[in-house]
Amino acid sequence: MQAVPSEFLAIDRKERANKPYYDLDLRPPEIRTCDFDAVVIEFNAERAMLEAGRCIHCPDPAPCMEACPTHNDIPSAMWLIEQGKFVEAAQLYHQNSSLPELCGRVCPHEQLCQGSCVLNKTQEPVLTGELEAFAVDYERRSAGYIIPLGTPTGKKVAVIGAGPAGLACADTLVQKGYEVTIFESKPAPGGLLVYGIPNFKLPKEVWFEKWGEFERAGVKFIPNTYIGKDKTIDELFNEGFEAVFVGVGSELDAPMENTPGTDLPGVYQATDFLIRGNVTKKLLPDSMKEPVKIGKRVVVIGGGDTASDCLRTALRLGADEVTCLYRRTEKEMPGGRKDRKMARDEGARYRFLTQPVKFIAGEEGNLVAVECIEMVLGEPDAKGRRKPVPVPNSNFSIACDTAILALGYWPDPIISKSTPDLETHDWGLVTVKNKATGATSRAGVFSGGDCVTGPDIVVTAMVAGRNAGFAIDEYLKNKK
Ligand SMILES: Cc1cc2nc3c(=O)[nH]c(=O)nc-3n(C[C@H](O)[C@H](O)[C@H](O)COP(=O)(O)OP(=O)(O)OC[C@H]3O[C@@H](n4cnc5c(N)ncnc54)[C@H](O)[C@@H]3O)c2cc1C
Ligand code: SF4
Repeated sequence: MQAVPSEFLAIDRKERANKPYYDLDLRPPEIRTCDFDAVVIEFNAERAMLEAGRCIHCPDPAPCMEACPTHNDIPSAMWLIEQGKFVEAAQLYHQNSSLPELCGRVCPHEQLCQGSCVLNKTQEPVLTGELEAFAVDYERRSAGYIIPLGTPTGKKVAVIGAGPAGLACADTLVQKGYEVTIFESKPAPGGLLVYGIPNFKLPKEVWFEKWGEFERAGVKFIPNTYIGKDKTIDELFNEGFEAVFVGVGSELDAPMENTPGTDLPGVYQATDFLIRGNVTKKLLPDSMKEPVKIGKRVVVIGGGDTASDCLRTALRLGADEVTCLYRRTEKEMPGGRKDRKMARDEGARYRFLTQPVKFIAGEEGNLVAVECIEMVLGEPDAKGRRKPVPVPNSNFSIACDTAILALGYWPDPIISKSTPDLETHDWGLVTVKNKATGATSRAGVFSGGDCVTGPDIVVTAMVAGRNAGFAIDEYLKNKK
């Protein structure tokens, strides 16, 4: 239900729908590719009020609220921002979201809230994501935000993985009075918010300011602890944790099969490349401290958002020619259009219907070229996607000294292997018995985020973590 019901607002919707639209302010491509700073220039108060004033306040439930996976009360927040009541708007976002200023920045808005805005029919949608980030940043930087703590229950819950799912579960549980400890295999909390999404899309200082809220709420963080190897879920129960949330993501790079040369110096997996290329040394695990060696000619293989992130990182690391190779056409690409446009504006090129078949070494054993074959689109597969088919004798070579494989992600099987009775499926995704709660086959073990769904997005992982938090509360309240 909307906090500010649309039907009671005395506004001229036609006049609002015809207000001029100003696109997001971006730093110019030739400047932004010289550093890793944010590309989007944040709204100031005046700009935010102007933009929020374009909302025509659709009747409840507004399409943007329905399209948002966490059902933020966007029209009410727009009204409050338009009136200059930024802190009140931020408070609305906290009601449904554990990470609003991060979702506001990284959600694929054009497929979610903004994509469903009725203004799309006649002009441009309201920039709801950026307004969410503005309001919550404003609150954090002025009044500050304190996670409201519940009455202590005296019960302890362990969260495995400090990504969006684990963080949202922790946020929900401390608000219910539980003592929460997050076990994380990496040195810093954040999951892919730190060790994946590049700084130019999500500045790390925003996340670390946000992390302060979790610390002040008493969430304990145990870094460099790999559950399944350093200790097991059974050991966590023996230590007195009464429930466990598994939010370990899906972070193993999918291998490029049947392609000789993927082990050559100069060929990188996307995760390794993005982490070593984007994250400051002090936050890197020891095994990743050596900087990436980037060449002048770089190819990135894949068609998702990770491929766009690799292209844009390579340009910032100093590559001259950066080309994406994708085996289907642009129409079939899974990655978002917005990221692809930014990559193109920054100088990345795309070559479609192209499949690498071999990475070629030069005299010194380093990568010097990739042999490819041309493809055509054949019949649709079971999912309706047209299958790429090689064109016989169409092989050709592209000179390159760095290749980055961005082919998707698989879950890490270590948790399931080390936890008896925890059911998994499809290469190790955790099976949840009830999607709404994240309850698994093991009593007291809940799960959510990418380790359940496979690679998805921040907001869906966050929602899964929150839902599991509420379910753990119910479980522990009813546990005999
Ligand atoms: C390069 C890249 C760019 C992306 N860009 C976007 C974007 O722009 N917008 C968007 O919405 N989404 C984006 N995503 C997807 C998004 O980041 C993920 O969907 C989201 O982070 C999933 O959250 P999660 O908590 O399930 O997992 P993760 O964020 O992966 O967090 C899991 C955490 O668990 C830890 N862990 C793993 N195994 C163990 C273990 N055994 N013991 C202890 N800790 C463990 C990991 O180190 C990690 O910190 C991107 C993903 C990638 C890879
Ligand atoms: S959480 Fe994402 S989808 Fe929902 S309003 Fe914010 S930016 Fe839009």
